[in-house]
Amino acid sequence: MKFGGTSVADAPAIRRLVEIVRTRREERPLVVVSALARVSNALLELPLLPVHHRRTAVHALLQRHRTLALELELPSHVTKPTAEEADILTSSLEALGDAPPSGEVLDFVAGHGELWSSRLVTAALERGGISSAWVDVRPVIHTDDHFTSATPERTGLPSRAREAFFGHLEAGRVPVSQGFLGSAPDGRPTTLGRGGSDYTASLLGAALEVDRVEIWTDVDGIMTADPRVVPQARLLPVASHHEAAELAAFGAKVLHPATQAPLVEAGIPCVVLNSFAPHRTGTRVISTADPGQVGPSPVRAVSCKRGITIVNVTSPRMLGASGFLRRLFEVFERHRISVDVLATSEVSVSMTVENSFPLDKLRRDLEELGEVSIAPERAIVAVVGLALRDSPGIAARIFSAVRDINVEVISQGASSTNLTFVVREEESLDAVRAVHREFIEESA
Ligand code: ADP
Ligand code: ASP
Ligand code: MG
Repeated sequence: MKFGGTSVADAPAIRRLVEIVRTRREERPLVVVSALARVSNALLELPLLPVHHRRTAVHALLQRHRTLALELELPSHVTKPTAEEADILTSSLEALGDAPPSGEVLDFVAGHGELWSSRLVTAALERGGISSAWVDVRPVIHTDDHFTSATPERTGLPSRAREAFFGHLEAGRVPVSQGFLGSAPDGRPTTLGRGGSDYTASLLGAALEVDRVEIWTDVDGIMTADPRVVPQARLLPVASHHEAAELAAFGAKVLHPATQAPLVEAGIPCVVLNSFAPHRTGTRVISTADPGQVGPSPVRAVSCKRGITIVNVTSPRMLGASGFLRRLFEVFERHRISVDVLATSEVSVSMTVENSFPLDKLRRDLEELGEVSIAPERAIVAVVGLALRDSPGIAARIFSAVRDINVEVISQGASSTNLTFVVREEESLDAVRAVHREFIEESA
């Protein structure tokens, strides 16, 4: 059972969590938690604050956890390790001075949120009469040393996970551990990237061969669009692992993009549930080729990923030449930059990458292959559905729905479940609303 930030945000949320865990007690749950809502952001901002403001900012975070412990009537020793770690954090931040923080520093700093929230949740369960145990996830989730988005080491994980959790489970205790965190080969703390707690839950679930992974969040499940963008969005009662992964990869924040991979391999379902309305049925994410239509059309959901840059490489050398794409992608591989959407013509290639990647060096290397142009502040809109490639007229309807918006790159066909296109960032939410209206609202 994974609880996200809003599901542990305050005393009422943690009390709800305790009651939700109680309903699953017979099933021997393992609980994974995120940091309290907004804490990861606040931690990540610390190294960017003026040095003399950092102590106060850490103290405010510590106070938030202390107040919560008081509200939940937890024993006072519960926040003792939190206070000690806050001291160490303050000293490290002061020692850092004005230097820009490395990935290693960011992971060390950000990781505190989950350590602190998980201690509160362990104690709240105990307080609610549910025997529980705090487990440090870092020795279990071994990763590489790619700080801020480390890749977990899968071999050895099942035995480490069994060792860490089975004793507690067999003794009838509910283990409570941290999402998001891991440790590099030399033991330094790492993180799995923003939103990575979902991934932790699926990694541990697969390693322990659980019956299911529950993702408890602040919406009813996976919806036909982000309900914050499209209030008319409808719940998908069932989704395939494949579409959940596609939606996550293209901006649907409800699940971390890597969450489905361990579950597909292990054949484990994942259920997305609303911790504010625990009796609702949520979305069941399963292995299925046919999750069913939500309306008369095969389109099932639409999402968008903002913060994208289009990189275009034009080279007459591409004409009829073999091996050009290999050289091109070697450059991206060398820079560890992944490409989301790709379209090619006879002499040019358009690719999209995330804005967060530093593109200067990439650009220089790409210029050896051809003329490079870069268009930042773009967004990918992804339309996900059943057999879109085989449904005549879908593309015409999509592009007529967004006819007032300039579409710069289109990609369809690689997967029959998705059609993606790239627009300017400021037009992307309108594009999502227009597609949703055309296929899901009109058909409701
Ligand atoms: P948590 O803190 O529980 O991990 P997140 O904020 O990471 O929660 O993810 C939940 C949010 O994902 C929702 O509040 C919603 O705004 C957003 N979201 C984006 N796309 C979708 C979608 N297709 N279905 C449901 N939620 C979505
Ligand atoms: N707390 C981390 C974040 O905000 C991980 C997570 O919530 O999944 O990114
Ligand atoms: Mg999340």
